[in-house]
Amino acid sequence: MFDTTLRDGEQSPGFTMNAAQKILFAHALADLGVDVIEAGFPNSSPADFNAVQTIAREVRGASIAALARCHPADIEACASALQHAAAPRIHTFISTSPLHRRHKLNMSREQVIEHAIMGVTLARKHVDDVEFSAEDALRTEREFLVDVFSAAIEAGARTLNVPDTVGYTTPAEIRALFDYLRAHVKGAEHVVFSAHCHNDLGLAVANSLAAVEGGARQVECTINGIGERAGNAALEELVMALKVRRGYYAADTRIDTRRLLPTSRLLSRITGNQVQRNKAIVGANAFAHESGIHQHGMLKHRDTYEIMRPQDVGWEDSQLVLGRHSGRAAVADRLRHLGYVLDDARLDQVIAEAKALTQTQHVISDRDLQRLVEGESFGPGWRVSALSLTDYGQRTRAHVDLSDPDGRHVIHSAEGEGPVAALFAALSQATGVDFVLESYEVHSMGVGADARGEANLSARIDFEVMTGQGTSRDVLEASAIAWLDVANRVLRGQQAQPRIAVGA
Ligand SMILES: [Zn+2]
Repeated sequence: MFDTTLRDGEQSPGFTMNAAQKILFAHALADLGVDVIEAGFPNSSPADFNAVQTIAREVRGASIAALARCHPADIEACASALQHAAAPRIHTFISTSPLHRRHKLNMSREQVIEHAIMGVTLARKHVDDVEFSAEDALRTEREFLVDVFSAAIEAGARTLNVPDTVGYTTPAEIRALFDYLRAHVKGAEHVVFSAHCHNDLGLAVANSLAAVEGGARQVECTINGIGERAGNAALEELVMALKVRRGYYAADTRIDTRRLLPTSRLLSRITGNQVQRNKAIVGANAFAHESGIHQHGMLKHRDTYEIMRPQDVGWEDSQLVLGRHSGRAAVADRLRHLGYVLDDARLDQVIAEAKALTQTQHVISDRDLQRLVEGESFGPGWRVSALSLTDYGQRTRAHVDLSDPDGRHVIHSAEGEGPVAALFAALSQATGVDFVLESYEVHSMGVGADARGEANLSARIDFEVMTGQGTSRDVLEASAIAWLDVANRVLRGQQAQPRIAVGA
């Protein structure tokens, strides 16, 4: 499992991370058990160089890869950034398809091969572990691909990556290509073949698995399937397909599958992008059985409608009852499961706040704990104390009572057409933050006395999409919490503070 969340994933709009976030996430990937962490593209910016360098120095348990074009400056930057890695890998690539040769590189086939040899040879001067990628391989002439890969092996590449850069291939086609390459590339038996699939047609996971059937023994993927355009193959889906259908694929990984959900959540939290509810493995509905017939079957025998146990991918009873007798170890363990490692002083603080919360609610959920930890590490931000509405015929006036980041009360009211417009206008005027919403959704969770409303909204600010979420018994209050969640992200961004400050 070659994870490129921090490179292919991070470079896509809305998923940018700062250095502290990248390092935190690299530790989580190592804990998850990925074999290779692609940490970045060092020559693309000083910030990327520094992030790769810190990850190489700090993170153990996985190889650390850095990306380079077949350019000396790129490769030297990788070598320098990876200097302190225990297991460094330089990943160098060049486009091979006729379209890219002609319109991007303006190179002949011979020139492409010369560059590939130069890149791999130079990389091998610095490290033993060199991966070579033929960009846009799936639209490259097969016999030319054989020539390029044979030359790369002779120059010293150990891993040959076959990227479907534009997400164009199909399962049968990519499987046949891997069979062909393994049969025709000179020295194929000494190297690992790798697949790198994009999801433009929704086939990234299916194509990666087909490549495994064709003999690929490395797959490049990302948590939650993030990545360029429609994304890369989702690690959690690949891992569970290989595990659940082990007899079929005859391949396995060393991923600690119980960490899949915590790692997915950590990424969502860092980037502010939730996965869709029906996302396989890690979506909120992935193990929810709604229909009566299914529930009846599940109660009799789980296997009737369940092919894997939710616990195997990290779902478990997510309610933690905290009371007078709740142990510190239990809270620490729960936090670790959610992706947080806190020092003693912080842990004490979170436990104290959680116990205070039990005076107003019986059960402290995972989300409550997350909010406590993040509130603590982020600073409190704006919060809702109270809100009310008054109707004047067509128009509504919303009155909000907020506490600002320093804990002072700010009271404001504003009018709008309807309660939501009035509420958001009042919040905007009170906080001084303004943004245009891209989406706004309200769901109810549960029925009766325990029913809660959940609001999700997203806004595009500059080129970044920010999402906010709120839950409350009252849907308008949930909406206000979600709105302030985005506003607090905007304000934190303006202060240029790291959005996440907890670390392992
Ligand atoms: Zn890619």
